[in-house]
Amino acid sequence: MQFWVDKTTQIAREASLLWADGLTGWAPGQKIAMLWGSDRDVSSSMANLRLALRWRVENRRWYNAFNMGPDQMIQFHRSMERFCPAIIVAYAGSIFEYARFLEEHDLRPDYPSRAIVSSAERLDPHMRACIERVFKRPVFDRYGNRETGAIAAECTEHQGLHILCNDFIVEIEGEDSGRSPGRLLLTYLHNYGMPFLRYDTGDLACWEPSALCVCGRSTPRLKTVVGRQADVIRTPSGRFIHGEYFTHLLYSVEGVAEFCFVQENLAEYTLVLVADQRKVQSQENTLLAQMRAVIGESACIRIMYAPGIPLTPSGKRRFTYSKLNDMNEPTLDQKASARFSFP
Ligand SMILES: [Zn+2]
Repeated sequence: MQFWVDKTTQIAREASLLWADGLTGWAPGQKIAMLWGSDRDVSSSMANLRLALRWRVENRRWYNAFNMGPDQMIQFHRSMERFCPAIIVAYAGSIFEYARFLEEHDLRPDYPSRAIVSSAERLDPHMRACIERVFKRPVFDRYGNRETGAIAAECTEHQGLHILCNDFIVEIEGEDSGRSPGRLLLTYLHNYGMPFLRYDTGDLACWEPSALCVCGRSTPRLKTVVGRQADVIRTPSGRFIHGEYFTHLLYSVEGVAEFCFVQENLAEYTLVLVADQRKVQSQENTLLAQMRAVIGESACIRIMYAPGIPLTPSGKRRFTYSKLNDMNEPTLDQKASARFSFP
């Protein structure tokens, strides 16, 4: 989708980001390492001298999350050791992958000095635990989107994400008092150039039920952002399964490097694995039985091995992917998905 952002809004967005970064204890001027990787952002950063200069003034350094092979991650580590950022702002999946790499190679980072901000992707509890174990610093989850910028951010209490109420009216349609998620609708109080009114973000979320946060801020808080509607798997009987179920299930399976659970339709499902096939094959039947117990005995589930799992166009990882009601989703990299097709 193309959208326009007026100049006043650009300034408001930056102010909101400063506020959200400030929740971690970061102060303006302190160093920020960005483990980030939207093509558009990265290319403009290289092309746009003004932006490069500005980052220098802002003490901000970019690490390309689109290019994270072992050699690059070693370079990131050495560079960040010298740079000593106060905070790292990263895609949830990228910082998780980086943390796992450091841990596997027995590299112990003594950066960042304050915190890690995780954004742009769903941060599952096991990811948070791993990142905090490796960096020995707290992770602050943040929710936002490209259309409007930062929408909600965690404070030091880590009890839900505070809505940026100066910028948004957030509604969650069809949510059941913190139990089952509803569609997150956004009214943006800036950008008169192109208003977003009750804009359907495509994300599902729940409210945090307790009224006042211990930190004293009284804004409403998001308890969880489940992720895209397409991240939720529906069973033949009509139940929803949170994508986190699959991360938990596969976390303990030896030999699995990456996975994506794909809902083809209401009866058929594909588990795509990037894995050591010899190790996983002996566990296939147990895996299938565990998944059928949750999805339904009638479900047709097949396991497929692939050399890699394509990222979305903006470079995000997806652990679950539903082809139901998914007409407006961007297509994934066709080349990389040659062996199994996403819509
Ligand atoms: Zn709070």
